[in-house]
Amino acid sequence: MPELKNCRRCNKVFSFVAGLPICPSCTREDERIFDEVSMYIRDNPGVPLTVVSKELKISYDKLMKYVKEGRLQIRSESGAFYKFCEKCGEMIMHGKFCKKCERHISTVLDVSKKSLQDKIMESERNKGDYRFLAHDKDEKK
Ligand SMILES: [Zn+2]
Ligand SMILES: [Zn+2]
Repeated sequence: MPELKNCRRCNKVFSFVAGLPICPSCTREDERIFDEVSMYIRDNPGVPLTVVSKELKISYDKLMKYVKEGRLQIRSESGAFYKFCEKCGEMIMHGKFCKKCERHISTVLDVSKKSLQDKIMESERNKGDYRFLAHDKDEKK
């Protein structure tokens, strides 16, 4: 059942079937660019995105969008492939998450670690109380 969606590239409304929300005319345009870029990369292995953009006169942002969508594999200036945060899609150099998400994740971990510690301490305290009471009873005997 096709639904109406706005094209992610040109914002035109079209009947969406499957895959990325991109209208047929932009899909054709995308494919033309993919062909051009993959041919260029085949001829110039390891060429960075900035050069691809300049040589093929395709905007950097446009190419970056394709890379983010995982539809093109182009290397960065450093020779490595671009990586993106698994949480927010921000460009990163290494690891799985950007600095911001990493900090957020470690805060969440810290909080859960702390609440676990609290629980352990609480049960330790309860045990102590119990021991104290038992001891108290023994004394009265
Ligand atoms: Zn479109
Ligand atoms: Zn992130």
